[in-house]
Amino acid sequence: MVETTGPLIGNVALNHLAPDIDDVTVTRAFDKMSTIPSKRTTRLSSTAAPAARKARKTSSMNRLVEGVRQFHEREFPRRQQLFAELADRQQPQTLFIACADSRIVPELITQTQPGELFVCRNIGNIVPAYGEMMGGVSAVVEYACTALGVTDIVVCGHTDCGAMKALLNPADPTLQTMPTVASWLRNAEAARSVVAATYTDPDDPQRLQRLVEQNVRTQLSHLGTHPAVAGRLAAGQLALHGWVYDIEGGGVSAIDAGSGALVPLASTTIRGRATAV
Ligand SMILES: [Zn+2]
Repeated sequence: MVETTGPLIGNVALNHLAPDIDDVTVTRAFDKMSTIPSKRTTRLSSTAAPAARKARKTSSMNRLVEGVRQFHEREFPRRQQLFAELADRQQPQTLFIACADSRIVPELITQTQPGELFVCRNIGNIVPAYGEMMGGVSAVVEYACTALGVTDIVVCGHTDCGAMKALLNPADPTLQTMPTVASWLRNAEAARSVVAATYTDPDDPQRLQRLVEQNVRTQLSHLGTHPAVAGRLAAGQLALHGWVYDIEGGGVSAIDAGSGALVPLASTTIRGRATAV
């Protein structure tokens, strides 16, 4: 199978198996979305002269090429045994669903090695409900549960999420130019509705963070609609986890299976294996 002999990041191999044009389009559009209210990124885009943008692009590629060289010469030899073991198989225990945001690095946050996480990233760490959008994310979920038999699925949101900002500001001119992104964000509409009903002041600074958290809950509930997930949950073979990563502080909060509240990850309780929240 392609998935077990392909690149180490499993969902890349899966994309070859089930290419999804819509998901690719959405992911590319995310680059533009960084201009939506972000105090750190807006200065980087619109005001730069064409020559400066070209120079930065060249510099960016040089950085990547140099990084590949360093990996091959320094890092790869140190882990050669690990890569040899992974050359023709993978057995990740966890499906990790995170935002495509460049600041989120699942393997760094969790200090995991190649082969440990089956990763799916998209705008807003979204999982469409089963039957709504049968695309790349649904295929990843099905493959992770059925072929790989993962025992845990983590949906990880994060602070300062551009996707959630866009969801709070649907009239934003930038979002208006990205109908595909706008369509994708409808998969988080239930979360927006909950926050709109409970935080009625549009200027309430808590709204964004509450939406980030509620979106994680919404996507966990969507996961439960996927047959491959529902069956394994019922059999006690799978647990679902909702996390929120704090970019500035480096910490992770988790949705406690008992109370449903966000608590520091270390203090969460896991109720058996079927901890759908
Ligand atoms: Zn995000």
